[in-house]
Amino acid sequence: MGKTIIISNRLPLQINITEKDIEVTPSVGGLATGLKSFHKEGDSIWIGWTGMPEEEIPDDLKGKVLEEAKKQNCLPVDLTSEEIEGFYYGFSNRTIWPLFHYFMEYSEFEPEDWESYKRVNQKYAEAVLENLNDDDEVWVHDYQLLLLPKMIRDKKPNVTIGFFNHIPFPSSEVFRTLPWREEILEGMLGADLIGFHTYDYERHFLRSVKLILRKDSTFNEIHLGNRIVRVDSFPMGIDYQKFSDASLNQQNQPSSENSNFQKKLDYHKNSTSDAKLIISIDRLDYTKGIANRIRAYGYFLEKYPEYKEKVRLVMLAVPSRTNVPQYQLLKKEVDELVGRINGRFATVNWTPIWYFFRSMPFENLIDLYSSSDVALITPTRDGMNLVAKEYIATRTDQTGVLILSEMAGAAHELNEALIINPNNFEQIVDAIKTALEMPKEEQIRRNKMLQKRLKRYTVEKWAKDFMNSLREAKNRISKIK
Ligand code: UDP
Repeated sequence: MGKTIIISNRLPLQINITEKDIEVTPSVGGLATGLKSFHKEGDSIWIGWTGMPEEEIPDDLKGKVLEEAKKQNCLPVDLTSEEIEGFYYGFSNRTIWPLFHYFMEYSEFEPEDWESYKRVNQKYAEAVLENLNDDDEVWVHDYQLLLLPKMIRDKKPNVTIGFFNHIPFPSSEVFRTLPWREEILEGMLGADLIGFHTYDYERHFLRSVKLILRKDSTFNEIHLGNRIVRVDSFPMGIDYQKFSDASLNQQNQPSSENSNFQKKLDYHKNSTSDAKLIISIDRLDYTKGIANRIRAYGYFLEKYPEYKEKVRLVMLAVPSRTNVPQYQLLKKEVDELVGRINGRFATVNWTPIWYFFRSMPFENLIDLYSSSDVALITPTRDGMNLVAKEYIATRTDQTGVLILSEMAGAAHELNEALIINPNNFEQIVDAIKTALEMPKEEQIRRNKMLQKRLKRYTVEKWAKDFMNSLREAKNRISKIK
């Protein structure tokens, strides 16, 4: 067996340009963690974009970027600002992202963006092909690279290719509205195995293939001439140990070593004997249901005024895709809503919403998770939602209540959470009350089951399962031939 080639839009690296030099540091997102065992064990390379426009990297530092990336077995694909605009902000984030999250009215169908998407996918394909041997295994990630499996297959018909989609796959009735629907499906079908987070996404994909390409599937396999494509679901997990250990460590350290942020959280928690913290953590994205969540919280204070001065919503909204107009509008809406609710309900001693528009270092994220009584997660659509899983993993004393939208992929695995419909205002408001009043024994009973499940199906297990399934799919095809 050859090496593994991982391809994602972004490399798991962060580039910082200082005055004369350049710093390349590894970034540790969920995907990088999950693939660590493949990537670090040696024989693998990761291909993707550095996150910085080609023009912004000074010519005399380009060699160094390459060299530093290579040290981490990474190979950069250079993208120009124009390509980033058309491929990334354009087709990926103004066409596919909204459409696949059922925001049809936000989806733009710009032929120029589509052309850019094709060209850039081709660019990634060339980077792969330059490094690809017949016995290598290729794992392509996510919605920015839907055309890549076929582009690779066309040049290397026998190579093993897996594709994983990290966002939802919408109902065929939504997907069929895309002008380039055939090319997208054919692009994905270049893979031997196509993975989704949930069985529903898998079904939607198979139905789209049937409806649009007129190709049947038997169980979860599509027969294409002398090839078989397997389609399956692999719900992505988290690095459970990392979150639970971090939480334990912080609890065990002397309080004098607590972060300033933790001290502020503690200050609120100690302000009255029955003070409660609700957290809300997401990228500022219209799919996350943030505006409705704030409205629901305002309505909660109105409907259950006994909670005034006792409960506080700590809301972390991480800036995202800030040059896409819908994100700018959402930022304005959220700012106004927070202002309105704080203005309406605040007292001298109490602000109902504590709002942060930035990202937080890991330690503060752990502070938030472990200090809160309730996590309120209400996306209108979400491929998985890892925040929900991370929250459960940090609850080392097994208290805490997760309120989770049924529209998040994670809801399929986290039945013991309080599952809500994010469009049902009354239900959210009542779930907040139920969560705040839930007896400790019940919280523990629910979290025990949730933790057991999340501890078992970690992100590492997810990656292993996917790769094993890919090998199995490929072996089966060879036998049939
Ligand atoms: N996160 C982070 N910094 C922050 C807030 C969140 O790194 O300030 C992380 C969080 O720990 C989680 C990820 O961002 O792993 C968000 O993943 P999720 O699946 O919930 O949503 P996505 O942003 O992928 O849509």
